[in-house]
Amino acid sequence: MSEIAALVLFSGGQDSAACLAWALERFDRVETIGFDYGQRHRVELEVRARFREGLTEHFAAWAAKLGEDHLLDLSVLGAISDTALTAEAEIAFSDTGLPNTFVPGRNLLFLTFAGAVAYRRGIKHLVTGVCETDYSGYPDCRDDTIKALQVALNLGTESRFVIDTPLMWIDKAATWAMTRDLGGEALVELVIEDTHSCYMGDRTRRHPWGYGCGACPACALRASGFERWMAAG
Ligand code: ZN
Repeated sequence: MSEIAALVLFSGGQDSAACLAWALERFDRVETIGFDYGQRHRVELEVRARFREGLTEHFAAWAAKLGEDHLLDLSVLGAISDTALTAEAEIAFSDTGLPNTFVPGRNLLFLTFAGAVAYRRGIKHLVTGVCETDYSGYPDCRDDTIKALQVALNLGTESRFVIDTPLMWIDKAATWAMTRDLGGEALVELVIEDTHSCYMGDRTRRHPWGYGCGACPACALRASGFERWMAAG
């Protein structure tokens, strides 16, 4: 049987870290891809390497499958979008009802670039941590968007890519539960210490659920999910 490989869109955030473990549990070879687009929480790019190292240290079976990391410079995205994720602006909701942390087309671009890398690397599965359940209202995280993009990628490259979205229909509490199921307390601890979700890039405050300002939408989501998971036992 031929080897089945996956490319995980790994930002350094909690969701993509859970997806990386999910992929390592399922596929024979797993590579990661990240994007530098001038995000103001650039610290997430630094924790990526630490999280990968932690996986290799604590999980021998996964270490054997974990392959190359690809970090792409997409600074052009920061140049064409003026949002609270890439500029020093207050996080707020715009007239469209979307938070101004929305970088238009971000996931479309990320997945398209990931598809190009996967094509070159002979990888069939693209894994992304997008989620429609308790998302911030980003339209490019929706299941329909991802399915449409899978079709577009396959038509545009004459391929049979599969875009896997293990978190699409679960909430943040269930993401913590999935993390523990996959890698036990060691993986939960690694996610707490060496992933980053805070939009403000704050690593000075350590909460039970990890580092962050504790006030931005990403921190609020991560904290409430953790508390609900803890409460559920
Ligand atoms: Zn925060």
